[in-house]
Amino acid sequence: MKAIMKEKAGPGLVMKEVEVPSELGPRDVLVKVRRASICGTDVHIYKWDEWSQSRIIPPLITGHEMAGEVVAVGSAVTRVNIGDLVAAETHIPCESCYQCKTGRMHVCKNLKILGVDTNGVFAEYAIIPESVLWRFSSEIPLDFASVMEPFGNAIHTASVTNLLGKNVLITGAGPIGLMAIQVAKVAGASTVIVSEVDPMRIKMAQENGADVIINPAEKDLVKEVYKILDDGVDVLLEMSGNRKAFEDGLKCVTMGGEVSVLGIFGGKIDINLDSLITMRGLTVYGITGRRMFETWRIADELLRTKKVDLSKVVTHVIPFEQWEKGFELMLNKQCGKVVLNLD
Ligand code: NAD
Ligand code: ZN
Repeated sequence: MKAIMKEKAGPGLVMKEVEVPSELGPRDVLVKVRRASICGTDVHIYKWDEWSQSRIIPPLITGHEMAGEVVAVGSAVTRVNIGDLVAAETHIPCESCYQCKTGRMHVCKNLKILGVDTNGVFAEYAIIPESVLWRFSSEIPLDFASVMEPFGNAIHTASVTNLLGKNVLITGAGPIGLMAIQVAKVAGASTVIVSEVDPMRIKMAQENGADVIINPAEKDLVKEVYKILDDGVDVLLEMSGNRKAFEDGLKCVTMGGEVSVLGIFGGKIDINLDSLITMRGLTVYGITGRRMFETWRIADELLRTKKVDLSKVVTHVIPFEQWEKGFELMLNKQCGKVVLNLD
C-alpha cells in the first residue's frame, strides 16, 4: 500500500510503498482509509520542528484525521463490524488510569496519539484500536467525516460554557476557529466577533457567518470590541495560539466572563495574570482534544442534521497521490481544511 512517512529524522515526508499491516491485536481494527485530512500537527512533523524532534520516532506513518471503512477486526472487537464507516478519535486512552475511569478519557495519563506515537492514517490501510473509533451517521459525506476530529475541537471549546444569548469573541479563524463560528451560532450566541490577520481567513470567517471581523494588524481589537459592545464579550474562544491575540482577547472579556483556550502557544507566554484574569474574576478553561464521546455525538448530530455546513471550511479535496500539493497549501495557509481522497 502507499503511505506518507517520516522515513528518517529531518524535514519533509515521503510517499512509499509499504506492507499492509497484518498483525491485529485482539481489540485492533483494520480500516481502509477513504479520506484523510491534513492537520497543523502533520505540518509540524513535516517541518521537523523542535516538538517533532522530541516526540516523533521515525520511521512513522503520519496523519490522524480520517474517515474509512472497517475491513478486518481483532478477535475481541465488539464495538464495530466489517463494513462500518468510521472516523477516529486521535487520543488513544489507556482506559484504566484515574482519568479514564472517571469520565475524562481525553486527559488520559497514558495518552497515545494516532499518527504521532503510533502509525497513522496517511496510508491506504491503518490499524486503529476499537476504543477510539466512531461510527458516523451515513448521511455525513466522507469529506466532512474526515474532519470530525478538528470539528470536535471547535465543539469542545465552544461547549464548556453556555453561549445562549452571549457575545462571543473568537481569536484566530484557522480551520478550527472557522468551525467554531458556526458552532457558536448554532449554540445561540447573539454576536460572534472574530479577530484574524490573514486576508483569506478573514474572507472565510465572513462566509462562515461571523457578525463582525476585526483585523488586529489594522485596528486596535480592544477598542473596536468596546465600541460595539459596552460590556465587552461574555466569552472568549482562543483559537490562534498567538500571545498578543490572547492578551487582547482577555481584555475584551467582561468582568466575570469566561474563556476557553484551545490555541497552542508552543512555550511560555508572558501575560499579566493578576490584572487580566484574577482581578477581573474570569473563569478559564484549558481545552484539549474532545470529550469521549460526548463531543463526537454532538459533531455527528450537527453534521447529520446539517446545522453546520463544513463545505465552507473544507476548501480542497485532492487525490492522495497529490499530497505534496496539500502540504504546500497548508504551509502557505492558502486553505481551510485540505482533505486527501484515497478512493
Ligand atoms: P491555524 O494555525 O490554522 O489557525 C490559527 C489562526 O490564527 C490563523 O488563521 C492565523 O492567521 C490566526 N492568527 C495568528 N495571529 C493572530 C492574531 N494576532 N490575531 C488573530 N488571529 C491570529 O490553526 P487551527 O488548526 O485552526 O488550530 C487553532 C489553534 O488550536 C492552533 O493554535 C492549534 O495549535 C490549536 N490546537 C489545539 C488543540 C488542542 O487539543 N488543544 C487541537 C488542535 C489544534
Ligand atoms: Zn488513561
